[in-house]
Amino acid sequence: MTIDLADILAARRVIAGVAVRTPLVPSSHMSAVANQEFLMKLETAQPIGAFKLRGALNAVAAVPAGAPGVVCCSTGNHGRGIAHAARASGLRAVVCMSALVPQAKVDGIRALGGEVRIVGRSQDEAHEESVRLARDEGLVSIPPFDDPMVIAGQGTIGLEMLEDRPDLAAILVPLSGGGLAAGVALAARAIKPSIRVIGITMDRGAAMAESIRAGRPIEVDEVASLADSLGGGIGAHNRLTLSMCRDLLDDCVLVTEDEIYDAMQTLYFEDRMIAEGASVVGIAAMKAGRLPAFDGPVATILTGRNVDMAIFTDIVAGRGVALGDVQLKGRAYAA
Ligand SMILES: *Cc1c(COP(=O)(O)O)cnc(C)c1O
Repeated sequence: MTIDLADILAARRVIAGVAVRTPLVPSSHMSAVANQEFLMKLETAQPIGAFKLRGALNAVAAVPAGAPGVVCCSTGNHGRGIAHAARASGLRAVVCMSALVPQAKVDGIRALGGEVRIVGRSQDEAHEESVRLARDEGLVSIPPFDDPMVIAGQGTIGLEMLEDRPDLAAILVPLSGGGLAAGVALAARAIKPSIRVIGITMDRGAAMAESIRAGRPIEVDEVASLADSLGGGIGAHNRLTLSMCRDLLDDCVLVTEDEIYDAMQTLYFEDRMIAEGASVVGIAAMKAGRLPAFDGPVATILTGRNVDMAIFTDIVAGRGVALGDVQLKGRAYAA
C-alpha cells in the first residue's frame, strides 16, 4: 500500500467546503528570532479547532454505504474530527480515549454527538478497545494516523502551503503518530524536492523519533505533557507512517516542557494567538536554537487550539503548572 500526490489532490476535492483552506501568516516576532521570514499555517481556524478534520473527512467519505458507524481511538482531536465528519454523513461515531486526555477534549467530542469511551491510561489501551468495537459491533475503524485516507487528508496542508509560498525553504511539523508529517512531507517534496521537512515533538515520549532511530516501532512510556496531542505510540504494527517519516523527514527535533511553556506564551503575547502545546513545538524549537540555519522562509503548522483553558490561563499569567509527576515552574513572559 502506497500513497502519492494524486491521493492528496483527490483528498482536497473531498474535503473542500467543510475543511477550511487556512491562511499562512507571517510572525514578525518569530521572523526576528529565526533570522528568516517565519510563517504559521493556522489550522487553529478549522471548524473543530484542529487540522485533524481534514484526514477525518477524507476517511469518513470512504466508509462503505450501509456501515452502521465508525470507531476510532484518539488523543482528542482525531475524535473531534471523526465526530464532526460522521455527523455530517449521518453516521454513529464512537471515540475511545485514555484517561490522560484532557476533559476539554472529551467535552468537545460529546458536543459534536460523538460517543466517548474512556479506557485505561494509554493510547494502546484505547486502540485495543476500538479494535474490539470494530469487531463486535461492525463499526468501521478509522485510525488516527496510520491510514492512507487520513495521511492523504492531512497532506492537503502541504499542498496549500506550497501554493501560497513556493519559496518556502523548510516546514516544521509537529510530530506524533506521523500522519500529519507523512502527508505534508509527501506533498511538499513532490512539489518541491529541495524543501526540508523537520518533525518536532516533545522529549518525554518521542515515539516516532525513537522508532526511526531503532528502525522498528518502539513503545514509549506515556506521560502527561503540555503537548498532550503528541502523546501515544506509533502502533506495534505500524504500516505506513514509520517508513514514510523515515524516508521523507530530514530530521526529528525534540523540545522540553519548559520550551513548550515559553512558546505558548510567545505566541500569545507576540502574535495574540491561542494554541495548544502540540501546536507550538516548531516555535519552541526555533526559539531554543535547536534548528539549523535555513536559506529561505520557514513555516510551521499551528495544528490546533483545543487547549484546556485553565492550564492556558495559568501559562499566560506566568503561573506554575502541575503535569502528572512533573511540576513546571511559573515564569512571567519576557520578550
Ligand atoms: C494529532 C495532532 C498532532 C500530531 O499529528 P500526527 O499525525 O499524530 O503526527 C499535532 N498537533 C495536534 C494539535 C494534533 O491534534
